[in-house]
Amino acid sequence: MHHLILQDKCRTIRSFAALFHIVAGLPAFKTTFAAGARCCGRSILVMYALHGLKLYFTLSFEKLNLIKPILHALQAEGYTQPTPIQEQAIPIVLKRRDLLGCAQTGTGKTAAFAIPLLQMLYKDREHEQEKEKRHRPIKALILTPTRELAIQIGESFAAYGKHTALKHLVIFGGVSQLAQTQALKSGVDILVATPGRLLDLINQRFVHLDQLKYFVLDEADRMLDMGFINDVKKVITKIPAQRQTLFFSATMPPDIAKLADAILTDPVKVEVTPVSSTAEKVKQAVYFVEKGDKRALLLHVLKDKSITSALVFTRTKHGADKVARVLTKEGIKADAIHGEKSQNARQRALNNFKDGSIRVLVATDIAARGIDVEELSHVINFELPNVPETYVHRIGRTGRAGASGVALSFVDDEEKAYLKDIHKVTAQTIPVVTDHPYLMSGSRAEMPSTPAAPAFKPMPASSEKGKQQQKKRKWEQNRGKRHQ
Ligand code: AMP
Repeated sequence: MHHLILQDKCRTIRSFAALFHIVAGLPAFKTTFAAGARCCGRSILVMYALHGLKLYFTLSFEKLNLIKPILHALQAEGYTQPTPIQEQAIPIVLKRRDLLGCAQTGTGKTAAFAIPLLQMLYKDREHEQEKEKRHRPIKALILTPTRELAIQIGESFAAYGKHTALKHLVIFGGVSQLAQTQALKSGVDILVATPGRLLDLINQRFVHLDQLKYFVLDEADRMLDMGFINDVKKVITKIPAQRQTLFFSATMPPDIAKLADAILTDPVKVEVTPVSSTAEKVKQAVYFVEKGDKRALLLHVLKDKSITSALVFTRTKHGADKVARVLTKEGIKADAIHGEKSQNARQRALNNFKDGSIRVLVATDIAARGIDVEELSHVINFELPNVPETYVHRIGRTGRAGASGVALSFVDDEEKAYLKDIHKVTAQTIPVVTDHPYLMSGSRAEMPSTPAAPAFKPMPASSEKGKQQQKKRKWEQNRGKRHQ
């Protein structure tokens, strides 16, 4: 409960404070009078007024003119306030304008399009004829690059639309199409699809898009990266020209800007969360380590019980499998997901991770795209990506929607150059953890721009294993000294 004791002789000032209080919609207010406290009272008032104004201008979902069935669903999800992309995009979409949204996953962009789409479809349905209501032609299409994202978007429509009686369906490749075609026959209002399977089903005449009114292109830059852009263009030739289009992309390379220009009509541009600010809310640390010591370091780090769930990133599919195998062998519940695993195996691993039956999920970047695990405690970069934006995407998996998280990065000699780029893009210097048994020796455990780590000289060792044991012993001894 907001509560203020305002000390000021001046009645006008107290009245203003009360007014701000009402405007800001704060629940409790109390003024007390104290002689001689005028100056203090006025400065409190200024602060209070600013606070009140801030609250007033922070919109709640109610102020976005959303219908009750959606507001109830959002409440059940525990959403109290729209994220910046939602605050900006929802009113524009509800005004039936085209939208160009520059936002990455983790900003709440799914709800930014799903909520207004559900509302418009709900209202449209009130004016539909009985026949159309029964037949349910596809009215909204969401095109997204990966199955994981498609499933997640489907889950969002299910959650936000649970009181709307609208039907949605998610389709993607790599699985039998039978269940999908059967669901299509019974009619859906919203179709969430990956481009390949959608084209297949359009060509087989299971999908008809002639009644489409709303089209969302999600993660357009990722479509380009994954080589789907021609499929996307083909899909666009199959949908009505008269439609509302929402276009989302985290970055705007020239090809994507050109595509946006071609398919949007007089769009309103909305841009949120520059890459660097996502990184600010995640607690980050770097471990300098030899390449060959990374697995041992991971096992060491995972001894920390505060790591309740960790998403570990590797560069390759092979690497992901290997790390998951090592962890499992050491009794840590882990699994790997990557493009070569069957859809069922990936979904199973993801579900096990989400419900806590496994503690560690090892993933490659593409497989991890769109993984949305609430309360993910740690992201561990077993290998550092060479593209700084990928680092930011990875660590954004923890610290979702305002929550704080921890991201640890294992950096070997080769990866120091990547770390420098990350420092530049995020405008931060990530602190170095020196208190571990696998620290690189001497000055190699330093970055020019990071605080120097204590030098650590390993004793000569004949075998690789012997070397590791020596390092560990030395570290344990030092730890003893540190704790004395
Ligand atoms: P997205 O960027 O769409 O992948 O969403 C990121 C995460 O934020 C998801 O777990 C959503 O459930 C969550 N989220 C989206 N909007 C809100 C909100 N207004 N309040 C709290 N959480 C949200």
